[in-house]
Amino acid sequence: MSYLIVGSGFWGATIAERIATVMKQPVTIIDKRDHIGGNCHSSLDEETGIECHRYGSHIFHTSIPQVWEYLSRFCEFTSYRHKVLITHGGKVYAMPINLFTINAFYGKNFTPSGAEAFLAAEIARDRIEQPANLEEKAVSLIGRPLYEAFIRNYTRKQWERDPKKLPSAIISRLPFRTCYNMDYFNDTWQGVPRDGYFTLFKNMLAHPNITVRLNCDYASIRSEIPSDATVIYTGMPDELFGYKYGELEWRSLRFEWETHDVRDFQGTTVMNYADPDVPWTRIHEFKHYHPERTAPFNGGKTVICREYPATWSRGEEACYPVNDERNTALYARYAAEAAQTPGLILGGRLGAYRYWDMDKAVADALHVFETRILPMSATL
Ligand code: UDP
Repeated sequence: MSYLIVGSGFWGATIAERIATVMKQPVTIIDKRDHIGGNCHSSLDEETGIECHRYGSHIFHTSIPQVWEYLSRFCEFTSYRHKVLITHGGKVYAMPINLFTINAFYGKNFTPSGAEAFLAAEIARDRIEQPANLEEKAVSLIGRPLYEAFIRNYTRKQWERDPKKLPSAIISRLPFRTCYNMDYFNDTWQGVPRDGYFTLFKNMLAHPNITVRLNCDYASIRSEIPSDATVIYTGMPDELFGYKYGELEWRSLRFEWETHDVRDFQGTTVMNYADPDVPWTRIHEFKHYHPERTAPFNGGKTVICREYPATWSRGEEACYPVNDERNTALYARYAAEAAQTPGLILGGRLGAYRYWDMDKAVADALHVFETRILPMSATL
């Protein structure tokens, strides 16, 4: 029996580490890119020494004790807590929407209960009883004016579709508060790996039972795979099955990198842009993730990256699943076929076609390992 894992993001790396450590079995993990870590990959910018998240900001946050304990074996996390700002109409506001945002937007000095009463009246105007989509859900939480300022156009840019055609679950990712807590996440544990995501992944995969092959495409080695091997596949399911039921829809991203001769470009890690006349959705400034790295942090240069949402087509990086009715039904056909295919396990954010945060991918990998992979060792 041998194990091949396709894709070295959090889901694949967790499964590899578990097979190597718990089952004491050899496992090969391949990745078509030239690095491990999938979209969580980070590396040091040569010129400035600033650690850059190569596929956009990744902030670790979880309330799942097992996931926190598991990843803490491979890295130490900093105490960084994510706070986002958003530019709308030439002014900067706090995001997610909280009492700072509400008071600045309406030009008021509401207390929490004052804001709640005011917004309840705003929300009541739309008479939404059962929110059926992203727009209705957002309006039922914050009222139409705040929705139109901070959510509608950002969401249109991000997803390139009307928020009425998007599932409400997407907006439920964001907290909404009537106090002055500006944290982007509610989770118990938050931070970024002190020594970088690249070190975290290197540590996860450092076990002698694990072989890593980079620049290695699954299609190019498919014929070499022994017939009794278990293939644990974290790529796109439609591609795996030759698009036989049709193509799943994804959203992609394009990143434009710039180095500036200023110590601080925007004063924060992430600035969102709510308005339609600005083509990017956000600007990341990576030095702010590591104020404790004093030399690059205080240095006279900074690295920023503008994030542009992009239409996905074959060959591009798939970043977000589009979990609408059509795609959910189509994915179910591929998942059913995968379940019927001996020696195949499908998973990860792409393989499961789920809009997961990093911790959900790790939690799912730990579960799949315990329930589907570990039991195989009993039959060896
Ligand atoms: N969103 C928004 N305005 C913002 C930030 C987020 O409308 O300033 C909406 C948008 O629809 C987005 C969703 O909230 O797709 C989830 O945002 P999140 O920051 O969780 O997205 P991610 O970091 O995963 O790209």
